[in-house]
Amino acid sequence: MSEQQHTGKAGFETRAIHAGYEPDPTTGAVIPPIYATSTYLQDGVGGLRGGYEYSRSANPTRTALEGALAALEDGERGFAFASGLAAEDTLVRSTCLPGDHVVLPTDAYGGTFRLFDKVEKPWGIEHTPVAIADIDAVRAAVRPGSTKLVWLETPTNPLLGIGDIEALAAVAHDAGALLVVDNTFASSYLQQPLVLGADVVVHSTTKYAGGHSDVVGGALVVRDLDLAERIAFHQNAIGAVPGPFDCFLTHRGLKTLAVRMERHCDNAERVVDFLTGHPAVAEVIYPGLPEHPGHAVAARQMRRFGGMVSFRVAGGESAALAVCERTSVFTLGESLGGVESLIEHPGRMTHASVAGTSNEVPADLVRLSVGIETADDLVADLDRALGD
Ligand SMILES: *Cc1c(COP(=O)(O)O)cnc(C)c1O
Repeated sequence: MSEQQHTGKAGFETRAIHAGYEPDPTTGAVIPPIYATSTYLQDGVGGLRGGYEYSRSANPTRTALEGALAALEDGERGFAFASGLAAEDTLVRSTCLPGDHVVLPTDAYGGTFRLFDKVEKPWGIEHTPVAIADIDAVRAAVRPGSTKLVWLETPTNPLLGIGDIEALAAVAHDAGALLVVDNTFASSYLQQPLVLGADVVVHSTTKYAGGHSDVVGGALVVRDLDLAERIAFHQNAIGAVPGPFDCFLTHRGLKTLAVRMERHCDNAERVVDFLTGHPAVAEVIYPGLPEHPGHAVAARQMRRFGGMVSFRVAGGESAALAVCERTSVFTLGESLGGVESLIEHPGRMTHASVAGTSNEVPADLVRLSVGIETADDLVADLDRALGD
């Protein structure tokens, strides 16, 4: 198959498996080798073979991953980073200067909020948190001229709020800003922000992209080639790059993204069915539910509704903590998007750093990352944990 067929109009699953790499011409290796090398032989001064000179700037294992990341988002260029937050910080350096302004979701990932509040703000980059589902509030928050980024997470973490990518792209562009979409929760399989008008896609590849809870990583994907050049410069100049083994693991994960996401969605739907109407559950939060305020937008811009489910426990915080400590198939832990099911209490765990801010989460909230185990076992585990 030619590279054109791999990345052009080929379907998502085909791109996931073939984009970014041709079998090695010398050995025939079907899978990109882990190029554990920092430097490369030059044929005469400046005579690079294949463009590689130093592995902070580029490494063939990373190049293969970056090609796959771009193809799966229908983008032009992909960039891999040592973590999701390293990707975010590099994006800010590539697009903002002191005096500039960023619009953030009120329920952004806690680490994203902390990055803007505690790291970027002291360097002069201001931010305004807004309820991103409210288009008028976003329009009121942008400052034409100084707002450089409108930051969107959809679905949000952990309240699974939905923002309208197409509508927010228009608001951002009217103000001369870029629309950034953190696509970590949906994954490239369920949602394609660049196709809907976004300028930059951010991923914590630690989550669904890697998919096996064995590697930390991040990514940026763009279509605009000038923006890509600025990011490439800052990726190299800052140097928050992943090593070749991390790239190998993430790329390996991407190949099964589509089949994993289908099963995550199937199992999440089973769990939502079980939780809905359970006497110990006060509210189930899932964008697939017709009563979810973002359901119509989610149905329009997502292929399915994802593997993340949040719910509020009727007995308040102590009951929520007890549920988290009683499951056995669901592992009590932070992070999400791996093949194994995880349960956590956002107020005390992932979102403890936003307590007392506009991004604080309800104390009776439990978040599930529904894995790809046997659905009956997941339901039985929650049934026991909610039991008495
Ligand atoms: C985990 C996460 C991040 C941060 O990524 P790291 O890989 O942990 O640095 C950013 N956004 C979302 C939505 C996340 O879940």
